[in-house]
Amino acid sequence: MAKWEHTDEPMHAENRRADARYLDKDMATQCLHAGERWERQVFWTSSTPVYNSTTYFYDRAQDLDDRVYYRKPGYVYSRGGCPTNTALERALSTLEGTEVTHVCSSGMAASHLALLTAGAGKGNLILCSSDVYGSVYTMVENIFPHLGAPSILMDFADLNRLEEVIKRERPQVVYFEVVTNPMTKVIDAPMVIEVAHRYDATVVIDNTFTTPYLLKPVEIGADLISHSVTKFLSGHGDVLAGSVSCSRKDFGRLHDMLIQVGCTLGPNEAWLALRGLKTFSLRMERHCANAIEVARFLEGHPLIEGVRYPGLPSHPQHETAKRIFAQERYGALLSFDVADCDRDKAFRFLDALRLILPATTLGDIYSLIVNPARTTHHQLSEEELAAMGIRPGTFRMSVGLENVEDLKEDLDQALESCQ
Ligand code: PLP
Repeated sequence: MAKWEHTDEPMHAENRRADARYLDKDMATQCLHAGERWERQVFWTSSTPVYNSTTYFYDRAQDLDDRVYYRKPGYVYSRGGCPTNTALERALSTLEGTEVTHVCSSGMAASHLALLTAGAGKGNLILCSSDVYGSVYTMVENIFPHLGAPSILMDFADLNRLEEVIKRERPQVVYFEVVTNPMTKVIDAPMVIEVAHRYDATVVIDNTFTTPYLLKPVEIGADLISHSVTKFLSGHGDVLAGSVSCSRKDFGRLHDMLIQVGCTLGPNEAWLALRGLKTFSLRMERHCANAIEVARFLEGHPLIEGVRYPGLPSHPQHETAKRIFAQERYGALLSFDVADCDRDKAFRFLDALRLILPATTLGDIYSLIVNPARTTHHQLSEEELAAMGIRPGTFRMSVGLENVEDLKEDLDQALESCQ
């Protein structure tokens, strides 16, 4: 065996020496200060470190003053941001094609901040699609009116009616998602934005389902873009985060809202989201390729009554999707109806799945499935569900990154065994 020889590398040892600045201090003082801030950074790191520091110090009072008064970029107190968050913000601005982004503690926080930044407030009307995420619907229907911002929720698919309402009511804010949940209706976003701007409304798009892989809302004129970063952008089901992207013109207001509301993202979450984002485009490529295959498979299955996926030529808004989504990609979400399916059969189907996981979330690396009538939309009456086209046997699937043959096999065996 080769003789082991230690490396005589004095600099390695030097880095780890006792901290001379505090050798003559009391242990209480040593515990607080030794080791910290021992060297100005003279190196780069491959990944931005997690800045678990609430406070940022400067050598000169003038340097801190420049940061407090926003004369120079930097950090003061982490509710306003930290370098880990900045790395994620810069990455998201780059992907969305926007000038700036602020990350925040959840997708809900992002929707809230985006609405406030867009001017939702006393006397300013919010016009919101009735097909938005359930908690956003509740926030717009209940919380904002309670704070003096009235709201109208309506179907954005009927463009003529939408224009009538915008012309008559003159909303301050128009808010919508481009692909609806769970029916996967595709809203003609460029047309909605054009009408909203004609009447001076500020447009907010929640781009969670479509993601910048399919659509960059800023390129079609949206003013603010919100995300549940929890979903496709981070992708691994291990972090709750949100983001709002906008122009520099709106950033001051967004930054003030973030600081006053206090829904800043923690640096550990920012790091996880940034880590997940590294594979975002690779994941989306596979999500989309798998989803179209699963959609075609279900469309040809004798135990399935209807499949809705914007990439299928049979989808009512397939042409709209083709026009507004990049590179003929249609995302990971689809919904379908199991034939002759009541609640019990729906539960048998879910219980029979071996690979696809039942979960209300979406956008993870794994395939996830949900029965909207019993979960995401359970607060709706039977009449409301029927009006939306949601049946007891309707399922929404977020197609993951598994081998697609394994997914088809799992769906097939569960459909057979629930009969
Ligand atoms: N927007 C959409 C489209 C969503 O699906 C969700 C959550 O499912 C949210 C916003 C809220 O995101 P979060 O759960 O990160 O608060």
